[in-house]
Amino acid sequence: MNTRYARLIKNVASSRMLNSIAKQLLPAHVTIFMLHRLEVPEAGVNGLSPVHLERCLNYLCENNYRFISLEEAVQRTLNGTLEREKWVAFSLDDGFAEQVTLAGNIFSKFDCPATCFLITGFIDGNLWQWEHQLNFLLKNTTATSVTVKFASAEQTFNLQIPKAHRPVIAAIRKHGANNAYQIVEQISQELQIRIPSAPPLDERPATWDEIRTMEERGMQFAPHTVTHRIVSGLSDDEQSHEIAESFKRVKQECKQPSNIFCYPSGQADQYDERMFNKLRDAGVSAAFSALPGYLNGPQIASDPNYRYAIPRMTMPDNFDELVRYVSWAQYLYEKFKGNNKRSQSYGAY
Ligand SMILES: [Zn+2]
Repeated sequence: MNTRYARLIKNVASSRMLNSIAKQLLPAHVTIFMLHRLEVPEAGVNGLSPVHLERCLNYLCENNYRFISLEEAVQRTLNGTLEREKWVAFSLDDGFAEQVTLAGNIFSKFDCPATCFLITGFIDGNLWQWEHQLNFLLKNTTATSVTVKFASAEQTFNLQIPKAHRPVIAAIRKHGANNAYQIVEQISQELQIRIPSAPPLDERPATWDEIRTMEERGMQFAPHTVTHRIVSGLSDDEQSHEIAESFKRVKQECKQPSNIFCYPSGQADQYDERMFNKLRDAGVSAAFSALPGYLNGPQIASDPNYRYAIPRMTMPDNFDELVRYVSWAQYLYEKFKGNNKRSQSYGAY
């Protein structure tokens, strides 16, 4: 968004009169934030500052925003009991240790029922994400290029550019989703660097014990697949397995897992209608994407697929941006932008 729009939204959203009119007129909606890593300097983890997260939660409390879990937001939106309040929900993807322990403690301090989506194979210690394995390889190589073999073609990537891992990850997501782990293994052989079986310290997953402890303190948990492969590139059987097995593990280990799901990466071409149907058949209430937008009451009622690709906002590391994202003016902006985008890319979606 350009700064002119950002300033305009900030200004109109701070008007008390417009705020009260907006509350009367706008449909009930929820701002759902999506977080990834939290900063833990002693473990070498880069991410959102815990101090910033606390400041944001403080602001939301002091300004009468109401926290809601993702599952409750979906249920209340579906059964029409979501009041026109200033709702905010938080989610964290993957299940890294600090997301559960550090972030979990901060959310618990504010009585905020955040939801953590777990890659169950990662928590079980059977794998660490292929994207992170690839980062590990590229961080530790002196090679200037690497050739990746996809089923249909080979592609050579220049490793001398900044953030060289990004185009490689994007290509694997697009052309090799089902073989992501084998492709990374092939890259490891080409670069002659062995991938450790366990992740490095800064990539440690939460343990099921840590998850259960935080569940007692109000955090909620739901599956995020077994392997974190892009689901639109998987066969029907693989998609079904990712859903069934990840739900099975979360249900075995947690007391009250949420009946919701989250797609790896979550861009529009990274999940598909086959997933919507499988999730619906499995009785799953909703699934979350990484597209920007708000959980919108009227849309969930009118579009049967909307609840299987509910958008979320990336949690900003800038305080002013957070204030803007939770405002009704940004909601209107995203709605207008989203409607335009959807009509271009999905037609009658
Ligand atoms: Zn993820």
